[in-house]
Amino acid sequence: MYTYQEMLSILNNGGYRLTDQRLSLLQVLETFGGSFSALDFEKKANEMEPSIGRATLFRAIDLFLEQGILEKIHRENGDDVYIVGSKGHHHHIICRDCGEIRDIDACPFEKELEEVIQREGFSSTIHRIEIEGICESCRKKGEGKN
Ligand SMILES: [Zn+2]
Ligand SMILES: [Zn+2]
Ligand SMILES: [Zn+2]
Repeated sequence: MYTYQEMLSILNNGGYRLTDQRLSLLQVLETFGGSFSALDFEKKANEMEPSIGRATLFRAIDLFLEQGILEKIHRENGDDVYIVGSKGHHHHIICRDCGEIRDIDACPFEKELEEVIQREGFSSTIHRIEIEGICESCRKKGEGKN
């Protein structure tokens, strides 16, 4: 996950103004250890900086998503969540029980996808693949109950 400094330089390099509100929002992001909802973000943002309105917050979320500072994770249960982004092409594996999200750094799908893409005659493609399951510690907890 990006650190505060890294998020700052992404905005800086993109030529975006580092307004006080944007800086506060980056500080809020740094306090999240894992995934969070838009509502979680809004609550924490308002605690830190009551002057940030809803419209400003959602515009900032759009900007952060566009710049890769934030990543939106689609969940099977329909409750999409956000996490602070990380560098480079990667995928996520998500625990359905505790909601933990881990980065998978190497792309395990590259080779197979390349064949499909070539066959379809596409170029400049992107892909998003998320894996959802039960993590080891949740599985152990589940076994303990039986
Ligand atoms: Zn990620
Ligand atoms: Zn879990
Ligand atoms: Zn990939």
